[in-house]
Amino acid sequence: MEKNMNDAYSNAMEQLKEVKELIGLDDNVYEQLKEPKRLTRVAIPVKMDNGQTKVFIGYRSQFNDARGPFKGGIRFHPGVSESEVKALSAWMTWKTATVNLPLGGGKGGVIVDPKQLSVGELERLSRGYIKALYNVLGPTVDVPAPDVYTTPQIMAWMLDEYESIVGHHAPGVITGKPLSLGGSAGRGESTALGGVFVLEEAIAKIGLTKNASVAIQGLGNAGGTMAKLLAKAGFKVVAVSDSQGAIYKAEGLDVPAVLAHKAKGGKLSELGGAIDDALAVEADILIPAALENSITADNVGVIKAKMILELANGPITPEADKILAGKNILVVPDILANAGGVAVSYFEQVQNAYNYYWTETEVNDKLKQLMTDSFNQAWAKKEQYQTTMRLGTYALAVGRVAEAMKARQA
Ligand code: GLU
Repeated sequence: MEKNMNDAYSNAMEQLKEVKELIGLDDNVYEQLKEPKRLTRVAIPVKMDNGQTKVFIGYRSQFNDARGPFKGGIRFHPGVSESEVKALSAWMTWKTATVNLPLGGGKGGVIVDPKQLSVGELERLSRGYIKALYNVLGPTVDVPAPDVYTTPQIMAWMLDEYESIVGHHAPGVITGKPLSLGGSAGRGESTALGGVFVLEEAIAKIGLTKNASVAIQGLGNAGGTMAKLLAKAGFKVVAVSDSQGAIYKAEGLDVPAVLAHKAKGGKLSELGGAIDDALAVEADILIPAALENSITADNVGVIKAKMILELANGPITPEADKILAGKNILVVPDILANAGGVAVSYFEQVQNAYNYYWTETEVNDKLKQLMTDSFNQAWAKKEQYQTTMRLGTYALAVGRVAEAMKARQA
């Protein structure tokens, strides 16, 4: 069978193979990292508003828990597939290890376009997901969180469903909750803020400054917040895009105005400066913040940026990655660049366990320290192996996972 170059799981496994060769990963460990430890597929019946029952397919992929409970979000998206959740669960395993959290990696998803559901249908689907999977979840087993198109409100319904079934409070079973149910201050902006801390370290390495120009693909929670934070920090955000279009302004966009326009349901193109592709603009820094495989061998040639910060999971295929490395474009990989989200999820779990809560300043200070240290540790690996930032980061992460696996097996 011909290999599909954009199949998320084969891409994840190709990256693992590369790092295996680089660091001389133990064969026994490598064999065990080729498949998730457990993959659960469920059919979730939902009573729709019209009285008819519709069945949605959901997954939870529990990739590796050598370092701690499985951890990772739940995605509600029409593009969810077995290959995608498996890949995302592998990436979560490397991500928690990159920032040295005592956690493993997992990921869930439901094949659904949540924009087509009423609020009631969305609640019943969220509760149905937990009803189908609660027996493989738990604060010390597997801890979900938000991902693409899932929100704190969805986490609240899921928590409530879990607690109703088990008959006691268990706030640590899910993160990204609303503050009123034990969520952490700072969790909402943490993916982007973590990305900013990493970006600040990375630009210093290649001689860029805080007035560098930036293009951002994707304006969801991660991309939208990133645009806001970068503009506030003095960066020139020259292009943004969403699933419907892209806009460009050489002297910099008015980011708060763009986000306000989108928040009230407006289209980017209504703001003027419409372009075909945010990836192709003249900008020092490119930030893909949408879905997997947005940069492939077919379109990588249009990129003019000096560095790419992967705020999305898996936006660059391995083939495209090699082309970028050949052009000496610094790629800060997803498992480091977007790890701020799961880092604050971990802080949320710690606060839940203590039933004692931190201020947003305390959370953000801890996040800054963690992201800065992790960037520098990954950079040191890149230097040690004379390789790309992606492989340096993978060497750090996979090395840590392997060490925990071997300690359990010795
Ligand atoms: N969905 C986010 C990610 O891909 C956060 C996961 C979490 O907080 O567990 O990293």
